[in-house]
Amino acid sequence: MRFDTIIIGGGLSGLTCGIALAERGKRCAIVSTGQSALHFCSGSFDFLGYVNGFDVETPATTLAKVIPADHPYARIGTDRAIAIARTVPEFFGRMGVKVNGSIERNHYRITPLGIMKPTWLSLDDFNVIAEKSKLPWKKVSIQNIAGFLDFHTAFVADNFECIGTLCTVSAFNTPEFERLRTNPSEMRSTNIARLFEGNDDLIRRCADVINRNAGDAEAVVLPAVFGLLDSHAVEVLKAAVRLPICFIPVLPPSVPGIRTQLTMRRRFEELGGTYLLGDSVTAAHLEDGKVLSLSTTNLGNDALAADNFVLATGSFFSHGIEAHPDKVVEPLFGADVNAATDRDDWYCHDVFGEQPYMNFGVATDGDFSATIGGKAISNLYVAGAVLSKFNPIKEASGAGVSIVTAMHVADIITKKNE
Ligand SMILES: Cc1cc2nc3c(=O)[nH]c(=O)nc-3n(C[C@H](O)[C@H](O)[C@H](O)COP(=O)(O)OP(=O)(O)OC[C@H]3O[C@@H](n4cnc5c(N)ncnc54)[C@H](O)[C@@H]3O)c2cc1C
Repeated sequence: MRFDTIIIGGGLSGLTCGIALAERGKRCAIVSTGQSALHFCSGSFDFLGYVNGFDVETPATTLAKVIPADHPYARIGTDRAIAIARTVPEFFGRMGVKVNGSIERNHYRITPLGIMKPTWLSLDDFNVIAEKSKLPWKKVSIQNIAGFLDFHTAFVADNFECIGTLCTVSAFNTPEFERLRTNPSEMRSTNIARLFEGNDDLIRRCADVINRNAGDAEAVVLPAVFGLLDSHAVEVLKAAVRLPICFIPVLPPSVPGIRTQLTMRRRFEELGGTYLLGDSVTAAHLEDGKVLSLSTTNLGNDALAADNFVLATGSFFSHGIEAHPDKVVEPLFGADVNAATDRDDWYCHDVFGEQPYMNFGVATDGDFSATIGGKAISNLYVAGAVLSKFNPIKEASGAGVSIVTAMHVADIITKKNE
């Protein structure tokens, strides 16, 4: 099988790159082993949330002043990175994913424990909180599904009360949840979300109880377990609950994250892309500094050939890079990796300190091409969490780097073939 571009990895970065290329009429395939970081997503996309431990208010004006020269944003060019970021809400809008927020000013998202963190874009389900130390409501009603252990109402209430919002905590129940609860390991976010899919009656019955429990609160706080396949369940619930709803992300799997992954995949396929889910690239065939084709687990000897290839295999979490006892490697191509050589330099012994290994990843040249032994592989581009020289946790930059580098790589490939 031959394509214009083959992307290895179908997480946020691979899908963004694939969609951006397919929107320009390119014939693309994405090969993806399985779940991605989106399955664990908070529901918000970070671009640049912190610098030296301080919250960043205005990423667009701050970026050029604070980002090191070897950071992926700096290597794209900070003006260019910001210009790409400005196009992202519309990019998601075209596939029906509404996001709120702006690169001009960060807002705050609420974590599963009820703490505020600065972020760039939030899925429409979630509230865009303007101030770190103030919620827009004086009193809220926090409501859980009876027996659901992955939503920590007491932590949320404690943290909300610390910033001046009074909380009441209650739970609601229906016979459907009783059945799910007969096996406690089944009481997980995605299984609950499945009960709501196509069952508007259940959603409205829950809304009736939620409305009764809410009393004189100004908003209802609920676990983000609605809308797995699309946002229909969220819309039905919002219409049936009489107060504004503040969804809180729960422990993984992330229902809004999985919905985003499924929606992006649908968009890619609607544009003519081929998405090979559950398949893994096992070997790459190179000649004269170029990748010719890839072998995968499922296709056996039927190699996948293309003009261009994109490595979007994620970081340690997705095995895009791997730590061996004495070195960190990129397992597929043996591409050059930026990592400390001495294992003692991989970690900071203060667990809350900045961990050097978070910056490890694949090295690239100025065109985001991977290198092997310092020599560029001219048609192998790198995007997303597999890249080196940024720290998604300390900077709160994960999704931003993934999306912006993917779009940048799509631009490079498009221009090269014009
Ligand atoms: C648990 C977790 C939660 C996060 N939550 C957030 C958040 O809420 N907000 C935020 O801004 N950032 C978050 N991040 C940062 C995150 O890294 C980025 O947001 C982004 O989702 C990473 O996307 P990616 O496509 O680069 O990598 P990944 O999402 O890791 O995807 C890589 C994909 O490549 C596939 N793959 C790997 N090797 C192969 C192979 N050989 N063949 C085929 N496929 C392969 C994997 O199966 C995987 O599907 C989170 C990161 C983690 C680890």
